[in-house]
Amino acid sequence: MTFLFRSDATRGAIFAQAFAEALPDLSFSMDETSVDHDDVRYLMTWTVPDDLDRYRNLEILFSIGAGVDQFNLDLVPDHVKIVRMVEDGIVRMMQEYVLLAALALHRNLPAYLDQQRRRLWAPVPQVQAGERRVGILGLGMLAQAVIERMKPFGFPIAGWSRSARTLDGVVCHHGADGLDAMLRASDILVCLLPLTDETRGFLGASLFAKLPKGAALVHPGRGPQLDHAALLDALDSDHLSAAMIDVTDPEPLPEGHPFWTHPKIILTPHIASVTQPTSAARIVIDNIKRHLAGLDPIGLVDRRRGY
Ligand code: NAP
Repeated sequence: MTFLFRSDATRGAIFAQAFAEALPDLSFSMDETSVDHDDVRYLMTWTVPDDLDRYRNLEILFSIGAGVDQFNLDLVPDHVKIVRMVEDGIVRMMQEYVLLAALALHRNLPAYLDQQRRRLWAPVPQVQAGERRVGILGLGMLAQAVIERMKPFGFPIAGWSRSARTLDGVVCHHGADGLDAMLRASDILVCLLPLTDETRGFLGASLFAKLPKGAALVHPGRGPQLDHAALLDALDSDHLSAAMIDVTDPEPLPEGHPFWTHPKIILTPHIASVTQPTSAARIVIDNIKRHLAGLDPIGLVDRRRGY
């Protein structure tokens, strides 16, 4: 039985060592050209290789990232389990990023950065955290972890998911019917939705129009969820006050794209959270052990939902 690792060699070396210690009977390979295709039971990759069907005995396809939107699921036979990355490093980094963004927007940092560039000393009236409502699109693993970190600051927090959820200290909304109520009461809107057919282009003109005037956006979801022109319109008409954007489509943005220089946008290059190889190797090893014991792996993707 072989685990085939299809990513960069530096991360691979960390995985190889962890696998040798924890699963000595499983062979670990980083070489697609020399591996015996029939031996490969597990494959870890960022994208699905076009020739996936040559791994006839494949049981689990592991994504290196927290999402699987980059996977072409049409290439993956039905019996192969698809598992996304659910590890502590990703969670911690997303907590940091969303807190950084929420605090920066709450304390008007984009406006002050702009004022500094213009040599302007002009305090903006400051709302207290208890009056700054945060709305989170998605109430999954990352959103829930973010909410726990955010609670001590005292922001009123609401969230929105597909199915009904109950979370302590959070006003939970769900489904199409629950969306507008949350948007109307979100001074800072955070997108932590997976990219699916339903969420592509979701952050667009009609959604922005439902936010209160002066609201701000934090977007560490996925690039194709955001309509760039609609965001620029909402910012330039002063309906939205600012945005902190981590993901775009395309990535990187072309040289002349307005996001690079827009005074109301803080742009980061898809760094909100990054898979950490040591903790990732640990969770993948645990998942293989679960699979061998007949249990579902953590992070198993529901193909019908697409996440
Ligand atoms: P998750 O655990 O699968 O949670 C997804 C949440 O979104 C769930 O609450 C789900 O609702 C909700 N949702 C999905 N489709 C929906 C829809 N059509 N309408 C309403 N709610 C919907 O995902 P996660 O681990 O928290 O990760 C979320 C996303 O963060 C990832 O998919 C990825 O796009 C992004 N991400 C970005 C970075 C970065 O560096 N920028 C890093 C990691 C992840 P239910 O609760 O009802 O299922």
